[in-house]
Amino acid sequence: MTDEIIIIGAGQAAAQAVQSLRAEGFAGPIRLFGDEPYAPYQRPPLSKKFLAGEIGYDRVELKAEDFYAQSGVATHWSTRVTEIDRRNKRLLTGDGQEFAYGKLLLATGSRVREINVPGFDLEGVHYLRNIDDVKSIQAHFRPGAKMVVVGGGYIGLEVAAVAAKRGIEVTVLEAADRVMARVVDPIVSHFYERVHAEEGVKIETGVTVAGFEGDTKVEAVVSGEGGRYPCDVVVVGIGILPNTELAAEAGLHVENGIAVDEFCRTSDPDICAAGDCTSHPNGIYGTRLRLESVHNAIEQGKTAAATLAGKEKPYNQVPWFWSDQYDLKLQITGLSNGYTQAVVRGDPTTGRSFAVFYLKEGVLIAVDAINRAPEFMMAKMLTARKAVLDPARIADESIAVKEIAG
Ligand code: FAD
Repeated sequence: MTDEIIIIGAGQAAAQAVQSLRAEGFAGPIRLFGDEPYAPYQRPPLSKKFLAGEIGYDRVELKAEDFYAQSGVATHWSTRVTEIDRRNKRLLTGDGQEFAYGKLLLATGSRVREINVPGFDLEGVHYLRNIDDVKSIQAHFRPGAKMVVVGGGYIGLEVAAVAAKRGIEVTVLEAADRVMARVVDPIVSHFYERVHAEEGVKIETGVTVAGFEGDTKVEAVVSGEGGRYPCDVVVVGIGILPNTELAAEAGLHVENGIAVDEFCRTSDPDICAAGDCTSHPNGIYGTRLRLESVHNAIEQGKTAAATLAGKEKPYNQVPWFWSDQYDLKLQITGLSNGYTQAVVRGDPTTGRSFAVFYLKEGVLIAVDAINRAPEFMMAKMLTARKAVLDPARIADESIAVKEIAG
């Protein structure tokens, strides 16, 4: 019998869990497996300042190099866990080693959704999930190069913004009729389409990618609508899939993510899960959610650590997220699904600073704030409180942000 806690996956949730396990008083052994050659690092800069070359590896690392040794954690980088044997409480790694565990934390994150069209494997077709992907994309950064970005979501648009600033000719192809259609109101989509156009990025909506052309290297993207887009490099950003296979093969319950309760417990009481790979029952929204955000990974990392340390600290959070494009900081709090009214504060047609408040039958459920930190901060509180707001007060900029709720 061992009391060792093993963490599988070395990303944002794992790094937080290590810190929180010690903070919660767990003094036993901890072992951490990650299949990348790096210690846990932040992914958001990979499509922002790190991609732009403005910051280096030292600024994306989540913890200093000696943190894990000092915290008494045995680390195994470049090591994939391939099997969990729950009956014997052992796990197997890709290099054939076996380890016994007392308790497990699954923090396996997610992976990119791949595009399955002819030419998908040509040189120059890239995705963006990890540090090595950034290096491959950066190798194409020279003024005048032509880039096609497939997908007008956050990651695609962030890549487009960075590349345009580097003098690259960028075209974004989006299948929906507007960018970021899944998550924001048309007001916000059209604002971003305008700004990108002003920065020299071409966005084409209603375009489905049918294939990539080229002998060994990609030379053009062809669309189902008959378009042909010559290019030197393609970056595909069409969403992610949670890494649930290891859990499913071990017989754990999976429901659009490894299903956990509000304490991050899976269907096995000795196994917790946290971060992108999970789905959880969210008390505020009254539904099961799978979130893809740093905030969720950190907060679930804390909750799971508390549970593994024998305490109970339920996870019940209003989600929040951000995206940086050019000089624009978009901060989103809440989830706007099912809103009945979008109320704008500020002017999205000419300026670069406004907020959209999403109401559902009068109750605030989400806010998109563009260069509006005060509105974002206030909205975080008001969404958690399920505040009922007067649309006229939201839109009236003569009313101070802190007075919006009356
Ligand atoms: P991850 O960070 O994905 O870590 C999981 C790790 O586990 C990975 O290294 C994976 O390779 C490893 N692993 C998986 N299976 C195994 C196995 N069997 N054995 C060993 N290791 C394994 N979020 C925001 O809130 N704001 C942003 O602006 C933002 N921007 C982003 C930009 C980019 C380019 C990307 C890729 C993500 C961005 N995100 C952003 C999302 C955010 O980074 C993720 O939600 C967060 O990293 C999730 O953390 P995690 O620990 O759950 O998973």
